[in-house]
Amino acid sequence: MKQLAKKNEQDIFQKIAGHEQVVFCNDPITGLQAIIAIHDTTLGPGLGGTRMYPYENVDDALEDALRLSEGMTYKCAAADIDFGGAKAVIIGDPDKDKTPAMFRKFAQYVDSLNGRFYTGTDMGTTMDDFVQALKETNFINGIPEAYGGSGDSSIPTSQGVVYAIQATNKHVFGDDSLGGKTYAIQGLGKVGYKVAEHLLQAGADLFVTDIHEHVLESIQDKAKELGGSVTVVGSDEIYSVDADVFVPCAMGAVLNDETIPQLTVKAVVGSANNQLKAKTHAQVLADKGILYAPDYIVNAGGLIQVADELYEPNKERVLLKTKAIYDSLLEIYEQAKLADITTEEAANRKCQQTIDEQRNRNNFFARDRRPKWNIRG
Ligand code: NAD
Repeated sequence: MKQLAKKNEQDIFQKIAGHEQVVFCNDPITGLQAIIAIHDTTLGPGLGGTRMYPYENVDDALEDALRLSEGMTYKCAAADIDFGGAKAVIIGDPDKDKTPAMFRKFAQYVDSLNGRFYTGTDMGTTMDDFVQALKETNFINGIPEAYGGSGDSSIPTSQGVVYAIQATNKHVFGDDSLGGKTYAIQGLGKVGYKVAEHLLQAGADLFVTDIHEHVLESIQDKAKELGGSVTVVGSDEIYSVDADVFVPCAMGAVLNDETIPQLTVKAVVGSANNQLKAKTHAQVLADKGILYAPDYIVNAGGLIQVADELYEPNKERVLLKTKAIYDSLLEIYEQAKLADITTEEAANRKCQQTIDEQRNRNNFFARDRRPKWNIRG
């Protein structure tokens, strides 16, 4: 019996090796069961959304929290924000199990970390949930403008995608203009639709696909108003259309063994998270001569806004910071070429360098070194 306990202990510490802190939150009164995973706070306090999902078991929930929080460390480094990687998951069905009381309780756990963890919406949670959370803690971001937040993050995210397409066009075609080219856009949701509008305005031709008919009709009307052209294609056809750039703005894992052979584009630049099904697909794309813009560099605009909110919301400043995605991608493309590595690997190395440099600076003792930027804290 004793031996088993020892083994389990080792298993759990092996699992969380590489993470600074993992917090289990349990409140039988509200039914809250949550895990907060803080991966690395070298760059600043942990930042990451809270996901609510009906995980089959605690192991699955823990694995998701660990994986997502680790990803946030590089995302924060890429976005050049003073935050580290973290994430929380709440075990439960967002349609059935969610209550305001549960989110207020969750917020008390967040507050108990005293600024080591900032959070906001993710899959299965909404701004309304975090308006409840805000009653218990100030360590919340990405809240509505009416509550002093910065509002809809898909606006800077889509702007960042446009800057990323411009940088990619410059690298591939020699100039960064958006017009006169054809784009295949997968998903016309909050981000994809805005990117499509921007491209049409620049005189681009689009192939588009979405599972919702009304957005397809709407973007066709937009083309009549703004210029450019729109051709609607089926969900499976979007990979093989004759376009210059593929713009995935729907779901993850769309770059895989089935889809990559179909692609005829010169580049892939989109907002969707985790586009590569496996790490090896970065090399498969490179071997095919397709330039891949690492997703977490491209879609950093929303994260930039969410982090910036704590300085007091300012759309102009967010846009300025988001613009840096253009230069950042060009540098990554150049480094990948020089070192003969994939663009994904070049992006990862750039982020790791940012973290290492900060770790070195952290060794220097200075009283009150960190800016007191949290306007609510
Ligand atoms: P959204 O839910 O508003 O839009 C997704 C769109 O994709 C919807 O219109 C949906 O109908 C469509 N879609 C779903 N399945 C499809 C399929 N099989 N084929 C074609 N279309 C399909 O989401 P969003 O906020 O626009 O985000 C899009 C992607 O970008 C997601 O992967 C998201 O994680 C990522 N992202 C978004 C933000 C942000 O600020 N919103 C920030 C970073 C990353």
